[in-house]
Amino acid sequence: MLTSAQLVTIDQVRQALSLVEDPEIHRPLTELDMVGAITIEPGGAIGVQILLTVAACPLRERITSDIRAAILAIEGTTTVTIEFGVMTDEQRTALRKKVSGDEPSIPFAQPGSSTRVYCVVSGKGGVGKSSVTVNLAAALAARNLRVGILDADIHGHSIPAMLGLRAGPTQVDRMLMPPSAHGIKVISMGMFVDNNEPVVWRGPMLHRALRQFLTDVFWGDLDVLLVDLPPGTGDIAISLAQMLPTAELLVVTTPQHTAAQIAERAGAVAAQTKQHVVGVIENMSWYDAPDGTRRTPFGAGGGTLVSQRLSDRLSADCPLLGRIPFDPEFSAASDHGSPIVLSAPKSPAATVFHDIARALTPAPRGLVGVRLTVTPR
Ligand code: ADP
Repeated sequence: MLTSAQLVTIDQVRQALSLVEDPEIHRPLTELDMVGAITIEPGGAIGVQILLTVAACPLRERITSDIRAAILAIEGTTTVTIEFGVMTDEQRTALRKKVSGDEPSIPFAQPGSSTRVYCVVSGKGGVGKSSVTVNLAAALAARNLRVGILDADIHGHSIPAMLGLRAGPTQVDRMLMPPSAHGIKVISMGMFVDNNEPVVWRGPMLHRALRQFLTDVFWGDLDVLLVDLPPGTGDIAISLAQMLPTAELLVVTTPQHTAAQIAERAGAVAAQTKQHVVGVIENMSWYDAPDGTRRTPFGAGGGTLVSQRLSDRLSADCPLLGRIPFDPEFSAASDHGSPIVLSAPKSPAATVFHDIARALTPAPRGLVGVRLTVTPR
């Protein structure tokens, strides 16, 4: 009769490990050269050595449970012992090249990229641009889309706090693995400055930082990338338009006509950069008073005005995508690190965000030209 030790082979263990993906890179551990020695003891005790990219890998527990489950599924296995090691610099460089190639490039600017990039812009600060970005991201993620946010509001970065994100990126060679919150991958200048220090960089340095966020961050396969731009029509908007020529603009305004005029200017940059304005979002539009009347403390009509004027200027339809009510819960939600779409999912504001997310959801990807990973059984 065969003993269990004779039943399990190294090939079987490797095969099982080829079904376990690195949770950040989404490629099999075997393909990423993360599997070291494999031992098989009499009685079916399996030992594997796993090389992590960094010692303090935040996903160590997840990798452990995935490996255990995969190996225990092999008939004849009794126990699994995992010994973790750390890659050498050379191994990390090899992994980075395997994942992102030799030359740094911007994945979203490649001809085959199917990621929709929306740059969220406003004329002036305080109109709710960052609040709109995080809530829209949460509403898009709720539609099972893979969503990332690049906080390019380098002087006024607030996205990590709004999402309750305290972790920074993990570095593998020169590749940065972005942390996630609520299923949204995030990179922000706020993650690279200590103690909320002000960022005093000027044009060329900002350009370089942004480029690095686009080339060196491992975003993976995203459906949508939202870029939160600083208010106005400055250097960063122009730099981004050069780096991401297919990015579309989303203009945020309040109903106030003076705010709308400034927002129109931010949107009109699209005429120079040849970008498409996908639509306008009006924020802080109204609230329902306890007596049942609808109040408009910030005036009315700003969103419609920006939509009409931009449509005329750009000779293209720039629709008003939605009017988000004023809701004190916004500040409370962002103070608690949770967008209102998640903390008050049935609120009128959340409903508008879901409607906008539906309008901005990319068409399902076809399978033509997509490499299918088929695992032989
Ligand atoms: P910006 O990015 O345009 O500077 P923020 O998103 O930081 O603006 O918003 C500014 C302030 O307004 C924040 O305190 C935010 O919580 C609040 N806010 C944004 N939108 C709303 C809203 N619809 N109702 C109530 N408060 C809001």
